[in-house]
Amino acid sequence: MLLFDKLLIRACIKKQYNLMMSSLPEKISILGATGSIGKNTLDVISHLGGMHNFDIVALTGMSNISLLSEQAKAFNAKFVVTADETKYRELKDALSGSGIEVAAGNDALIEAGKRDADWVMAGIIGMAGLAPTIAAAERGADIALANKECLVSAGALFKSIVAKGGGKLLPVDSEHSAIFQVLNHDQHSSIDKIILTASGGPYRNFTRDQMENVCAKSAANHPKWSMGTKISIDSASMFNKALEMIEARHLFDVTPDQIDVVVHPQSIIHSLVSYCDGSVLAQLGMPDMRTAIGYALTFPNRADLPVEKLDLVKLSRLDFEAPDEERFPAIRLARNAMESGGLLGAILNASKEIALDAFIAEKVGFLQMADIVENTMDHMSGYSTKDVTIDTIYDADVTAREYASQFINDLA
Ligand code: NAD
Ligand code: MG
Repeated sequence: MLLFDKLLIRACIKKQYNLMMSSLPEKISILGATGSIGKNTLDVISHLGGMHNFDIVALTGMSNISLLSEQAKAFNAKFVVTADETKYRELKDALSGSGIEVAAGNDALIEAGKRDADWVMAGIIGMAGLAPTIAAAERGADIALANKECLVSAGALFKSIVAKGGGKLLPVDSEHSAIFQVLNHDQHSSIDKIILTASGGPYRNFTRDQMENVCAKSAANHPKWSMGTKISIDSASMFNKALEMIEARHLFDVTPDQIDVVVHPQSIIHSLVSYCDGSVLAQLGMPDMRTAIGYALTFPNRADLPVEKLDLVKLSRLDFEAPDEERFPAIRLARNAMESGGLLGAILNASKEIALDAFIAEKVGFLQMADIVENTMDHMSGYSTKDVTIDTIYDADVTAREYASQFINDLA
């Protein structure tokens, strides 16, 4: 190739890259900045920040005030919120003289969602993430959705709020990002199955007896992904996959029987779409959340990211097996919730949050978490025919938490 051709190609690539960088959002907020997703998001932003000017509109956290204030100063955030009102003074003192606005509590979290970012990372864990994410969606921000509980609890209603606001819904959960990357929306009617992969977690080969006495520290020790403690324990019980099944059902508008789960211990294939003509499309990559976060930030383009590239030869093999629903009843409970519909997703999620907190506090055993969720869902089965509104979602959430807590007390 002539030198001139080479230079021309290089100039074209550079021009395209600059065009892509100029289409990135400018104003960004991160709900849950101090968590695993939040830290990875700031890492991606730092990496791209040399080539693009990001304005950090709002950052939120909860108890880790030293990290939150460090992030706020390093990224020159405008508004910083701790969800924990008792930490207000500590945050205020840590940021005194910086000119950064500080607030605390649930209303302040919602205010963070309302501030004028174009792109908002929904990285708060649990139902606590719903209200601030809705606040951002209502005013039309693009929502990078890591918080799966928004769709599990509010399902189609959450999607309609995003659609009405006019922003994009950009999946960040690695499985949903994978499907988002390979799904051809014009071929929606040709989808046979959405296949979610699951690592199988640390107890993939454990018997039920062995699972009986495991502790939170061992359950949080995920073999492949580095994530927050709660989602890691949810991965060990496969409640994380249960939430993801419900999330996928709403996100991709498929029926419950179109969602399959396959255990894939290497966590290299992040999920697949199987079409009616026998074609199966998959997205592969190293297990690193920065790929999914980066794609949500650069969509529909891609940017260079500092992630390890996949070496297929070094990998040499990929394994698959069916999930064992006897040892991991969460999968069956997700199917029940999807088939029942209504508020059963919110009830599954709320009772799971209570069961998980009780397991972490050593009040219940690992296997009892599924019993607590199943009993709460059975008790509240009538909620499947109730209208889904913001009020009924919060009512179902509170009632499920009360019932699950009482159930745990009765076990003692
Ligand atoms: P994490 O526990 O590491 O961080 C959670 C964040 O939410 C922190 O900033 C914390 O301060 C904040 N927070 C916790 N409780 C809060 C409350 N009651 N009110 C307001 N803020 C609160 O969690 P994570 O692993 O980063 O996960 C965040 C979300 O992303 C979860 O919904 C999880 O399921 C989802 N997700 C995470 C990963 C991952 O790799 N970590 C992957 C896929 C999806
Ligand atoms: Mg996931």
